Amino acid sequence: MPAIPMLFSNKFNVLLLWKCLCLLVVLVGCNPPGEPVKCSTKDSNCTVTNSYGMFPDRAICRAGNVAYPTSEQELVSIVSAATKSKRKMKVVTHFSHSIPKLVCPDGQDGLLVSTKNLNRVLKTDTDAMTMTVESGVTLRQLINEAAKAGLALPYAPYWWGLTIGGLLGTGAHGSSLWGKGSSVHDYVVEMRIVSPAKAEDGYAKVWELNERDKDLDAAKVSLGVLGVISQVTFKLQPLFKRSITYVRKDDTDLGDEAVTFGKLHEFADIFWYPSQRKAIYRIDDRVPINVSGNGVYNFTPFRSTLSLVLALVRSSEETQESSGDAEGKCLNAKLVTSTLQSSAYGLTNNGAIFTGYPVIGFHNRLQSSGTCLDSLEDSLITACPWDPRIKGEFFHQTTFSISLSVVKSFIQDVQKLVSMDPKITMWARTLQWDPHALR
Ligand SMILES: Cc1cc2nc3c(=O)[nH]c(=O)nc-3n(C[C@H](O)[C@H](O)[C@H](O)COP(=O)(O)OP(=O)(O)OC[C@H]3O[C@@H](n4cnc5c(N)ncnc54)[C@H](O)[C@@H]3O)c2cc1C
Repeated sequence: MPAIPMLFSNKFNVLLLWKCLCLLVVLVGCNPPGEPVKCSTKDSNCTVTNSYGMFPDRAICRAGNVAYPTSEQELVSIVSAATKSKRKMKVVTHFSHSIPKLVCPDGQDGLLVSTKNLNRVLKTDTDAMTMTVESGVTLRQLINEAAKAGLALPYAPYWWGLTIGGLLGTGAHGSSLWGKGSSVHDYVVEMRIVSPAKAEDGYAKVWELNERDKDLDAAKVSLGVLGVISQVTFKLQPLFKRSITYVRKDDTDLGDEAVTFGKLHEFADIFWYPSQRKAIYRIDDRVPINVSGNGVYNFTPFRSTLSLVLALVRSSEETQESSGDAEGKCLNAKLVTSTLQSSAYGLTNNGAIFTGYPVIGFHNRLQSSGTCLDSLEDSLITACPWDPRIKGEFFHQTTFSISLSVVKSFIQDVQKLVSMDPKITMWARTLQWDPHALR
């Protein structure tokens, strides 16, 4: 069974963990992910895909052309012209990391509006602890810029390569049952959206929503259907430190433990390896800022990986799959989980080596990672493990949410399945939490 990473979010979120990514990882840069939009003539007659290349190969997703606004003013002109011509529009981001085909405009002549060049931090107010960014700013940029001002976004997805517009649109989250919970949109206090409008309004309108507007909540998680999010203002917190310890335990009492554990530790999450009957609990809490430690989390599966290694792993997976080699899969799974454990899941105490738990450090250096986004070279010798330009990882749908009230039953059902067939090919999962389900 694959590992089950469990993140505490508005529900109990279960993500498939890319099993082989941690096998061999190199510390040099790699090719950044490819462009999602490709056009046969300059910015026209385009296809669009996501960062895994799931489409257009598997289902064509076309657009008439793509526009790259560099300011809200340009964005308004683009939306206005497209509305006047009655064209369908969709927003595409720099890397396009969602798995579903949310980005496809209807029909062949749609317009893609890219937020690639809407990538500036516009304002940081340290007294009010707010930061205003354009919607194409990446999570990594937001975290880094906030930290420079001594501020922190308390909860966030674990992967740097997402944009603010995309992660809000999809309700993305980290893992916490504390406070408002781990969804990034809960920390938005203001946003500006450019939407199609009537002719008398110039065919486009800028909506400015703040906490006093009852529509702000609905507008935040819109899957891009309400218009183009142009700017977002976050309420941040003073930068703080965290202490992380991974503990490996038998999974016998996981059903009872899961929610209790999530409530006990502010940034808790769990990797669950059902076939191995093991659970890895992340004990993760704030500590006073004067506690010494300069830890870094560079999650192993999000690092640059040798393409050759990825190809070998993929081939071995395909062989095991076609021959029904459950034994081989279980052996691979054990190799992966023990490699992850011995590499402390990518944690280091000082940015260079892991000397033992707890790993203590500033939140901005522990909350998310994604060094495979960095590019030092032009070849594809190394890449993000799921890069479609190499023979690497491929996965379908990787996440589902379970209401907190039924988490125990879910875990027990999976445990029953495992006991019926211990070699059942289920892999690694993470469990993440968010308290919305408790409201
Ligand atoms: C390696 C990896 C790890 C991940 N980890 C987590 C995690 O820990 N927690 C979690 O919750 N999720 C996680 N995810 C999923 C991720 O949050 C979503 O895939 C993500 O939100 C997509 O962001 P994006 O910027 O790539 O947006 P896209 O996929 O490009 O877009 C998503 C949707 O939002 C729309 N959109 C984008 N920008 C705008 C805008 N400015 N205005 C209007 N609409 C817009 C698009 O049209 C599309 O409909 C992970 C994904 C990956 C690849």
